[in-house]
Amino acid sequence: MKWPLSKKMETSLLTCVIHKSEQITMYCADHSQLCCSKCVELNHRPCLQVTPLHQAARGKSIDFKNLSVSTENTHSQMKQCETYQEDRMKSLKVSYKEHERLIVDGLRVNIVSYLRECETSTVNTTHEHMQYPISEMREEIKYLLADFEKSTIKEKKEELNLKQAPLKVVRNSCIRLQYELFHLHVAIRKVLGKELSFIASKKCLENIQQSDIFIKENFSNKALAVNGKSVYNVKMPSDSNTCGIDSICALPNGQVLVSDYGNNKVKLLNQQYQVVSHCNVSHYNDPPDMCLITPTEVAVTVNGEVQFITVSQSQLAKGRKLKLQNSCHSIAHNQGDLYTCSDTALYKFTLSGKLVCRLYEDTSADYTGLYH
Ligand SMILES: [Zn+2]
Ligand SMILES: [Zn+2]
Repeated sequence: MKWPLSKKMETSLLTCVIHKSEQITMYCADHSQLCCSKCVELNHRPCLQVTPLHQAARGKSIDFKNLSVSTENTHSQMKQCETYQEDRMKSLKVSYKEHERLIVDGLRVNIVSYLRECETSTVNTTHEHMQYPISEMREEIKYLLADFEKSTIKEKKEELNLKQAPLKVVRNSCIRLQYELFHLHVAIRKVLGKELSFIASKKCLENIQQSDIFIKENFSNKALAVNGKSVYNVKMPSDSNTCGIDSICALPNGQVLVSDYGNNKVKLLNQQYQVVSHCNVSHYNDPPDMCLITPTEVAVTVNGEVQFITVSQSQLAKGRKLKLQNSCHSIAHNQGDLYTCSDTALYKFTLSGKLVCRLYEDTSADYTGLYH
């Protein structure tokens, strides 16, 4: 014996989703849509297959078990989508807080060193005399600093809100659809009678469809979302060949390094993606790979060796070179360890080039280690 459907749920099932004061009375098979009299009047006049509900429901058997499973699946996907939006909002907040802190810290350091300068330059000569103006100056600067902090924070907060707003909209739609799915899921296990069952199943399907579209547009199981794409030309006047960018490495300060296999160069791009410096590296047979070692140092694979390149004041300079025992096609760095791939194996090295271990090897073919 099922628990009966509550009156409230029954009423909500019978209500037109568009016209909340109207009851569903018809079904348009042309649009596969449940309709109230207003719907019919406004949107389905030319439709050929608009029939009263009881007629539409007649003779239709509904697979509630299947429907229940799909509803549940969709519901859990929507839950994931909601969590994902929440996480994005949180990470935005964290990065803004960090940014804000850096700006304020920077300003504080500047002001303190300025004050020290003032004090040392005046203290020796007219210490007595200057005491008061300095403390006054200190107060003045403190006041300015507080003001700056306030205004920066305010500005950043507004920016943050602006960026979070669309995420909030998506999250709220997520919550609404989840709520509806949940109630329909409860309802389809309880409905009795042909017409109500018909309505419940159609509403369920419609909701699943809407949610699927929603997920495709906002989630689609990706941890990364492409926000946009821009094209920049990194060709230099001295380049004689077509540029071939095989690897790229972003520095924390926003500068970017690219390796140009076509012209045997590693190029440094500024924050506007213009080439500001380069250094020559000869890749005879192997496209280079690159990874970040410190905020101002990268490692590039060059003909099976590892070339370190440092970035200082927007200039590139070649540093030390590691000759490894094996060939080296690709490279990665994690917490002081270098990982490289040879023809067939993955190795772990120290930053000084000492082999730690071979982590993995696949000798089933000649070059299983390429492109990893
Ligand atoms: Zn309606
Ligand atoms: Zn229609």
